[in-house]
Amino acid sequence: MESKKIVFATSNPHKVLEVNEIAKGSGIEFILPPASFSPNENGKTFKDNSYIKAKEAARLSNTMALADDSGLCVEALNGEPGIYSARYDSTPQKRIDKLLKNLTPFGNRKAKFVCAMTLVNAKGEILNQVIGECHGQIAKVQSGINGFGYDPIFIPDGYGYTLADMSEDLKNKISHRSIALNKIIEFLSTVL
Ligand code: IMP
Repeated sequence: MESKKIVFATSNPHKVLEVNEIAKGSGIEFILPPASFSPNENGKTFKDNSYIKAKEAARLSNTMALADDSGLCVEALNGEPGIYSARYDSTPQKRIDKLLKNLTPFGNRKAKFVCAMTLVNAKGEILNQVIGECHGQIAKVQSGINGFGYDPIFIPDGYGYTLADMSEDLKNKISHRSIALNKIIEFLSTVL
């Protein structure tokens, strides 16, 4: 059976590889949007930003499109860095250092990764919008070399080690992105 191709609104080929790995066996294959994809991510929430990206990809490709927007929300920091996770500081290491420093005065190290996904049709109308969350704690010191972003300082609930110390396979089973994507895949299986 030929897989159904859906545009995934990102310019990052690694993200497309990751979502295809999670979607393996579903009959859905995600593909990159046209190279001119360059959305203006000026929303106030993860959901807003995922909608902005999905709508832009659908406009450019004239097909159904899926987009995600994600970040890390730290309870003691009132949800920061949140939608500003990628812009919290200038490099991934500086972002980790800044977060650890800002959290030093607090005993509460609870945090969650949040991923919003929006699926739109070719006209840019929302077909489905979901949230996936992965709850855990911010480690006191960073550990691990796998993954990206804040993975070296995030210990998911139920595990005694960071996402960066975890295999890619396991992270793909418990991550905010896989939880959101599995909801979308379930929705798509009822409409495709
Ligand atoms: P994006 O919306 O998926 O591009 O994610 C925005 C930012 O959130 C990334 O640049 C990372 O800093 C952070 N982030 C999102 N998902 C993850 C993850 O799975 N691990 C670590 N950091 C993440």
